[in-house]
Amino acid sequence: MTEGLWTRCNNCQKILYKQDIIDNLYVCPLCNYHFRLGALDRLRLLFDDGQFELLDQNIYPVDFLGFEDQQKYSKRLEESQKKTGLPEAIVTAKGTMDGIPVLILAMEFGFMGGSMGSVVGEKVARAAERAIQERLPLIIISCSGGARMQEGMMSLMQMIKTAAALARLGEARLPYISVLTDPTTGGTTASFAMLGDINIAEPNALIGFAGPRVIEQTIKEKLPKGFQRAEFLLAHGMLDDVVERKYLRNYLIKALRLFLNKPQ
Ligand SMILES: [Zn+2]
Repeated sequence: MTEGLWTRCNNCQKILYKQDIIDNLYVCPLCNYHFRLGALDRLRLLFDDGQFELLDQNIYPVDFLGFEDQQKYSKRLEESQKKTGLPEAIVTAKGTMDGIPVLILAMEFGFMGGSMGSVVGEKVARAAERAIQERLPLIIISCSGGARMQEGMMSLMQMIKTAAALARLGEARLPYISVLTDPTTGGTTASFAMLGDINIAEPNALIGFAGPRVIEQTIKEKLPKGFQRAEFLLAHGMLDDVVERKYLRNYLIKALRLFLNKPQ
């Protein structure tokens, strides 16, 4: 979203009054394009009265490799923290949905593309452990470009770590619902984002592992229209549902009631 009162829709290109988009849950009122949401805005839309308690906010990333590309990793971290006001690319929150206590993690794309470093993995694992201890259902809203290259194999390790923690949650017979938003790719898709008891996505969300160019070069075939979009994945059995943002909260409440055997 640009500065000022007006903005242009990324999809239909129409000029819109910004407040109209905000009032419509950051969805274009003309073409239903779903704008990307920050982690905290996302949580405010889901919890009862927009109220929640932030957890694990004291875990900060460390540049243990002294990594540097065009810029020092430590500098990138500093800038992302300043820009987003968050310590890392994921936020853990506890609150209620229609009175049901629940843990929700939301990823922040504005923090280094929502990349999964060791802190993101640690927070997902801790949330799963907390959910087991407190007998809470878990929801993760993914929005991520994948593993964080600046942390080398430590970022890749988070795939198995989060998968193992979520497996224990499953053994404890507690539900985990994964919500994939635009975009969810790379190691995030290849680990916790696709491990939900149900995996649902927002309309037109880009979801995949490798990008289309890499796949086309590897299989030497032209990819079909709509490839790696939520609707295509749903049609091919990779997702359980595609849910518009205006229905998401109620959809999740229904799913929680079903899993927890708590009929209204
Ligand atoms: Zn539009």
